[in-house]
Amino acid sequence: MTRICVAISEADAASAIAVAREAIARGAECLEFRFDHMPMLPDDLTPFQQLEVRRIATLREREQGGEWEGTNEKKWEFLWRAARAGFDIDLELGHPLVNRAHLLKPAKVIVSYHDNKKTPQVARIIESLVECSARSDMAKAAYSVRTMHDLAQLVEATDWFSLSRERYTVIGMGEMGMVTRVLAHRMGSVLSYASVSPGKETAPGQLDLETSKWLGKEPVVTGIIGNPLDHTLSPLMHNAAFRAAAVRGVYLKWVTMVDELEDFLDVVEVLGIKGFNVTIPHKETIVPLLDRVDPVAERLGAVNTVVNEGGSLVGRNTDVIGVERTFEGHGVDVKGRTALVLGAGGASRSVLSFLMSKGADADITNRTMGKAESLAKTFGAEAVTARVAEEKAYDIIVNCTPLGMKGFPQEMSISPHVLREGQFVMDTVYNPPVTPLLAEAARKNAIAVNGKDMLIYQALASFEMWTGKAVDYEVMDKAFREALP
Ligand code: NAP
Repeated sequence: MTRICVAISEADAASAIAVAREAIARGAECLEFRFDHMPMLPDDLTPFQQLEVRRIATLREREQGGEWEGTNEKKWEFLWRAARAGFDIDLELGHPLVNRAHLLKPAKVIVSYHDNKKTPQVARIIESLVECSARSDMAKAAYSVRTMHDLAQLVEATDWFSLSRERYTVIGMGEMGMVTRVLAHRMGSVLSYASVSPGKETAPGQLDLETSKWLGKEPVVTGIIGNPLDHTLSPLMHNAAFRAAAVRGVYLKWVTMVDELEDFLDVVEVLGIKGFNVTIPHKETIVPLLDRVDPVAERLGAVNTVVNEGGSLVGRNTDVIGVERTFEGHGVDVKGRTALVLGAGGASRSVLSFLMSKGADADITNRTMGKAESLAKTFGAEAVTARVAEEKAYDIIVNCTPLGMKGFPQEMSISPHVLREGQFVMDTVYNPPVTPLLAEAARKNAIAVNGKDMLIYQALASFEMWTGKAVDYEVMDKAFREALP
């Protein structure tokens, strides 16, 4: 059974004990005292004996990410006293004192290994765990996880090592490794290290106590894969939804390169990740790697949501739902209406799929006309040049190019002549909220709508697919507005 171990790093014994009491009151099941963070080691350890949970004493060496610079004799003298005062003892693999660890009995000894720079290959991780457990009551290995490949190595190594039935804790440090903390129980780890509160972390990616308690042992884990993911608002929106729906779960961010998709799917399988969103550049390339793709995603040739249905990965597309609900929300029935779609990428596919399935008469134009022609053929629309489009009168215009988006040229991809009074103009861009296209549309008294609703409605639909819970629009809208006021 995994226990939550709060890592306490305070400058003196009195404040460490005060924080420890607070942590116990809030549900800590074990405490690690980072004595290496105290400028003066306490002479009297008896006050710690009043703390009624398991305690670990650590004097982490500098090269393993700690602050301890004293001699080995001083370290031994302190740890021996700590063992006598009822602490379990953490020693670093390879440290000369590990050879004397048996003298610390009856204290339990953790032999730990920390690599703050990288995650090695599977065989090397297993080797370290074997070496740690040969000399201890519990092996601990913590690696800096920087890539999806690192994460896959760590998860695979742990899966193998779990067969040994040894007691161990394995940690992936950093944002990419966070899932190993969230799913510590499923990783088979004895301890799940947490900070007493946000900002008090002793290692990168550490969860805080309140979050650890809230998530419990078997949280619903979801997230997003893509590259880049710097600006995604999805974690904020989904994590707000988990709280609002009272579902113990989390939405994580996994930067994943093109050649790491299979690594990611291995992690999903071993850890039983419930589902995930897929964004650029994987929406199309993931399709052949899934067990099944629903008819909507199949028609689009693109998946933005994957649901793990009892080990079977099913690809879906909620972008279309996002588009549909945006139109519905503004009371726009597209049947028999003329529409112009700008751009011929992923977003255009969702928009065209919706428009054509609901009986609109849609044209598509794009910088690269060949792509517009290919999409027009797939969805039964018509590809037109910008010049031809500018001579026609459309009821609906939808921008699916990144023009107007933050970091892109603040321009329109078409002449303002296409904009007219009473038209419904949607920009899939939502940051900034008013793009040049929408500003011009408003000037012409058209109905101007940005991509926020599409984003929120697709997220609500994905969330419901993973959790079975419908969350109010306002929950995600609030999270969105907090991020982009
Ligand atoms: P994509 O697959 O890369 O397609 C981009 C399209 O825009 C392509 O047709 C491309 O033309 C065109 N384009 C790019 N730069 C251009 C420029 N400088 N001038 C004219 N055309 C240009 O991208 P996507 O996934 O469809 O995303 C497009 C936009 O939709 C993004 O702004 C994204 O934020 C937004 N989006 C919003 C949501 C939402 O939920 N609100 C969801 C998905 C996407 P070529 O074919 O010639 O390269």
